[in-house]
Amino acid sequence: MKLKPELKKEVAAATRLFWEKGLTPGSDAGDTSLRDVETGLIYICPRPKPNVLRIPNWGMIKAKHIVVIDPDGRVVDDSGLLPTVEAPMHLAIYKARPDVNAIVHSHAIWSSAFAVTGKNIPPILAEQSLHLGGEVICAAYGRVGSQELARNIVAALGKDKMAALMQNHGAVALGANYEEAFISSDFLEKGAQVALLGGLLGPLIVRKPDEILDESLKHKSSNP
Ligand SMILES: [Zn+2]
Repeated sequence: MKLKPELKKEVAAATRLFWEKGLTPGSDAGDTSLRDVETGLIYICPRPKPNVLRIPNWGMIKAKHIVVIDPDGRVVDDSGLLPTVEAPMHLAIYKARPDVNAIVHSHAIWSSAFAVTGKNIPPILAEQSLHLGGEVICAAYGRVGSQELARNIVAALGKDKMAALMQNHGAVALGANYEEAFISSDFLEKGAQVALLGGLLGPLIVRKPDEILDESLKHKSSNP
């Protein structure tokens, strides 16, 4: 199948941005991937091979480190490395969600605060409902790299949610492309931060997704 060097560059650039935005402490904590809509191949962050001691911090990753796998997880281009340990989760999400072509799997502070308590993030801001699908569900626990984790995350995302929490681990944010996946991730972090801070002041006022837009704006695409 046709490999596209420009997509390796895009994944490396997005992963550097991922680190710059503070969505990962660095090293290989968290990862990102991109699906080529034309071939179905997935361009994804690496993990070291046993005889390779290190991979760069995500802030310094380059196109030459990006691994390419097919939808069944077979390595198409290894770049001398292995695909990230969370490749099964990325693959399961792409399989379940044809609308998704980019995934940001973060280990970020505010969403992790919810993930370590197993609590969902309630829909309290308009953007959470309009961009994330409302409440962000904390998926049941699964071990790192397991099929169980992959299944639990797919279940928490359902058919249309754009983010989910991974218990004792982190979060995933989705998009039709990287730009949208980072918007999802930004709104996820902001929603978690505001929920935590607002909760210190008093009970949170929750709004269901269908309570957000004015009737005149429904069925149109519109930002808040
Ligand atoms: Zn992780």
